[in-house]
Amino acid sequence: MPELPEVETIVRDLRGLVVGRRIDFVKVWLNKLVRTGPRRLAGFLLGAEIHGVRRRGKFIVFTLSGEKRLVVHLRMTGQFLWAAAPETRPKHVHLIIGFEEGGVLMYRDVRQFGYFLGLQPADYQAWLVSEDIGPDPFDLSPEDFRERLCSRRGRIKPLLLDQRFVSGLGNIYVDEALFAAGIHPLSPADRIREDEARRLFDEILSVLKEAIRLRGSTVRDYRGLTGVGGQFQSRHQVYGRTGEHCLVCGCALERLVVGGRSTHICPRCQPRR
Ligand SMILES: [Zn+2]
Repeated sequence: MPELPEVETIVRDLRGLVVGRRIDFVKVWLNKLVRTGPRRLAGFLLGAEIHGVRRRGKFIVFTLSGEKRLVVHLRMTGQFLWAAAPETRPKHVHLIIGFEEGGVLMYRDVRQFGYFLGLQPADYQAWLVSEDIGPDPFDLSPEDFRERLCSRRGRIKPLLLDQRFVSGLGNIYVDEALFAAGIHPLSPADRIREDEARRLFDEILSVLKEAIRLRGSTVRDYRGLTGVGGQFQSRHQVYGRTGEHCLVCGCALERLVVGGRSTHICPRCQPRR
């Protein structure tokens, strides 16, 4: 599933391509994709100009003329592709948005878990409330982070994956940040010391920044708009490296299951206390 760095990369690519363009046509082949109704979506989007594209957690939010929003979640395998002109619909493309100025934005999704929402301004505000998206890691201060951590019970990894606690992190970047901070994923959140919380916060940001710089991690399906994958997977220290040697201490990396999620650790660098 695309996490913060992958979604951020896609958003930056989209911004360069679609902002300032006016929507000329919309085609939807997979009705369940549009939760606010596939037929209504075309009427909602036609003639609208795209004013901006931003990320909220793992959501992509297009701001359109009239302060309307198009919200997209890629879930497992959603991808945006760009073509200079309409072409024969590629396999697994379920939605196409064409622009008056030329250019076509295609949405491809092999497993079909992704979704679109077309929201009027008031509906968008209601959606933000109902979704309860937590703060972006880049908007938090180390003090905010520590305070939020201290006030929560439960294990650290499930907490970091909770999109209401902090938004954008997923399995890859939580495993990488916990390793870099030397924290076992089952550590109770409220027992993490001040210096550990500070280090964890710093490592979360530095892992995310480096991943964004390398356009994310391509583990399975993720691709940027031009079809090019990310490069951060070659920098993974623990994720997907079970049985290989820790690059810090040489110990064999282990896999465990935490909160139903596959978790990768170095037993020596991340001792359980
Ligand atoms: Zn190690």
